[in-house]
Amino acid sequence: MLFEGIVFGPIKSRRLGVSLGINLLPPNSKICSFDCLYCECGFNFSSTEKYPSFQDVVVAIEQRLLLMKNNEEHLDVITFAGNGEPTLHPDFEQIIDATITLRDTYFPNVKISVLSNATRISDEAVFRALNRLDNNILKLDSAIDSTLKVINQPIDKHFSVDELVKKMSLFNGNFIIQTLFFKGIYKGVSFDNTTDGEVDAWIAVLQKLRPKQVMVYSLDRKTPVEHLERPDNATLYLIAKRVEALGINVSVTE
Ligand code: SF4
Repeated sequence: MLFEGIVFGPIKSRRLGVSLGINLLPPNSKICSFDCLYCECGFNFSSTEKYPSFQDVVVAIEQRLLLMKNNEEHLDVITFAGNGEPTLHPDFEQIIDATITLRDTYFPNVKISVLSNATRISDEAVFRALNRLDNNILKLDSAIDSTLKVINQPIDKHFSVDELVKKMSLFNGNFIIQTLFFKGIYKGVSFDNTTDGEVDAWIAVLQKLRPKQVMVYSLDRKTPVEHLERPDNATLYLIAKRVEALGINVSVTE
């Protein structure tokens, strides 16, 4: 599923409520620093299209917010997601600042969320922008390198969970962790991020980072890879209980 425009929805998000989506990636491409086995946009590929300009993004968001306000439509959240990793946009920080201004003008009670894989948080501008959000939602599907490398397929072959966790700690808890639990086989390698060893390692990272919230969820849509399996809901709730025991707010999306 790929988005052709900058603004999409609003859609009823399972985790965020009524959400107006913003796609900062080029139309008809999937561009990400990960290539997750479950990505609803499929695997990475580029068309000849360019990233939308700062100006085009701001105009598109303002026009839609104005229209929604005039129609007295309900909105809970503006969510940056779309055809890949939003923080790859070269003007990401300026776009977030402009969106905050537009939100304050048209829908002051609405939250702004970014769904990010956190691979760009070492970039100072990206870090600053994410730190200003209501919902800085960062992906952590496993705390074990070998599992994360199968599940998320990072493009940077030197990617390491330790490095990622060090960078995440600089947010001082001003972020939300989202983790998708599932199991499967890819290119002959089996993985399962719900095993005791996986959950123990993940809990240890949460204990260290103390995010303000954790979102536990699983497969819900068509995936580019076959033979992926979601755990039963009881497993998701058992995992969530362990997060709760740390005193961290946790939500489960069945
Ligand atoms: S991080 Fe998000 S956009 Fe990137 S491959 Fe994974 S699911 Fe897709």
